[in-house]
Amino acid sequence: MSGDIHSCIFCRIVRGEIPSRKVYEDEHILAFHDINPASPVHFLMVPKRHLVNLLDADLSHQALLGHLFGSVGKLARQEGLGDGFRVIVNNGKSGGQEVYHLHVHVRGSPGGAVRETVAE
Ligand code: AMP
Ligand code: ZN
Repeated sequence: MSGDIHSCIFCRIVRGEIPSRKVYEDEHILAFHDINPASPVHFLMVPKRHLVNLLDADLSHQALLGHLFGSVGKLARQEGLGDGFRVIVNNGKSGGQEVYHLHVHVRGSPGGAVRETVAE
């Protein structure tokens, strides 16, 4: 499991040690395209600070989570998803999480050309 910040793949992307196709970056969050897109547009949004998942978060993370989720719409619109999109957060083994650094999947099809399926 990529729990420690030295080996965590998303921490390494945040530090620029692994390349990514960047969508957006500010002081607190980074957004980049998923390497294995499941939709025509599929990007990930991560807090720069390592949090494992939402089981690792509480109200002390309210500002950071507000910043993360409060930025989703702006980035979705920027990537052509102004007509709508899906947001997915996988948490833990039973939640299908593969990378153990909190991330928000933003998936959709510009103009709604491809109808998103609900199955994961
Ligand atoms: P999850 O199952 O929610 O943990 O999803 C992890 C996601 O990270 C998958 O959709 C992967 O395709 C994606 N991913 C893994 N490594 C990279 C990478 N180096 N750059 C971009 N996306 C990645
Ligand atoms: Zn990390």
